Amino acid sequence: MDITIKDLTKSYENFRAVDGMNLHIKDGELVGLLGPSGCGKSTTLFMLAGLLEPTEGKIFFGEFDITKIPPEDREIGLVFQNYALYPHMTVEDNIMFPLINRKVNKNKARERVYEMAKLVKMEDLMKRKPKSLSGGQQQRVAIARALVKEPKVLLLDEPLSNLDAKLRIDMREEIRRIQKKVGITTIFVTHDQEEAMSISDRIAVMEKGIVQQYEVPQGMYLNPKNLFVAQFLGMPQINCFPARVIEKELWCEDVMLCGECNLENGDYTVGIRPEAFEICEEGIEVEALQTRMTGKDLLIYFSLAGQDMKALVHSDMQISEGSKFHIRIRKHHIVVFDENGKTINK
Ligand code: ATP
Repeated sequence: MDITIKDLTKSYENFRAVDGMNLHIKDGELVGLLGPSGCGKSTTLFMLAGLLEPTEGKIFFGEFDITKIPPEDREIGLVFQNYALYPHMTVEDNIMFPLINRKVNKNKARERVYEMAKLVKMEDLMKRKPKSLSGGQQQRVAIARALVKEPKVLLLDEPLSNLDAKLRIDMREEIRRIQKKVGITTIFVTHDQEEAMSISDRIAVMEKGIVQQYEVPQGMYLNPKNLFVAQFLGMPQINCFPARVIEKELWCEDVMLCGECNLENGDYTVGIRPEAFEICEEGIEVEALQTRMTGKDLLIYFSLAGQDMKALVHSDMQISEGSKFHIRIRKHHIVVFDENGKTINK
């Protein structure tokens, strides 16, 4: 089922928590709603779920306007951060719960519950109660319960926030696997850019209630539409600093960053991702101020034209604190922003 969000707004008095959102989500896609705390992600999800009434705008599931349809009739599955399992019920009964009030044949219901438990790999723990399960296992049960009624849309609100770092990564892969297997259109709210990038077909980055960019992860990372998106995606953060174009050359103080730049003379902000620096024999000479080994990468702090920079290089590079080395900047990795923070083609 595809989803169309048209001019969706939620206002609280004069404050617009979601401000004129327009998105189209294709059938079977997993879309990550990403942004900092308070940007309107959960408000959007709650409107999709029917738990909050929009101030303006419409939501369509397929051709059908569901804006005024109550939550129970929307055919959605919901998963929250805190699992919200019934503590006194077994895994089996928790997954079964949404089917109880439906006129579903008991044997059929059991079959369906088992099928869901198998999908989330919980079929051997059916008689357990939630408190004897790990966080990851509880979240699997919550996902099975959300899917048992065969909803058309799955809505996930920060489902991995309560899990530790390693489990978070395992579970996000699990969610992706389950989502692809079921083929269900899914919206996944997260403030974790790496999480969103790794499992989403497309990401909507939000700031202050407004969708800043809606794109496939790679496109968004390499071609951010503005400074906010460029800085929000990527860890370590993109290097941003002032620069000047003089006769087609891009300069930061006395360092030429790019010799063939199709921009008018003037002041700009430049963004360079840490991995866009290449270490080479020739090029700009810099000094490593600090280095950090992350495992596969070496993070080098250095100064370029008086600006603090970070470069991310392969960890087999022999560069230690205080040593001098030469860098080159991959030209197509330089992003240029105008005075309003909008990306401009160079
Ligand atoms: P987080 O990641 O912290 O959950 P979020 O992006 O999901 O943040 P929302 O919960 O959607 O953000 O909230 C968006 C904005 O709307 C916030 O500034 C919040 O304070 C505000 N807001 C939410 N509910 C209400 C309410 N009932 N009354 C007034 N303001 C509200």
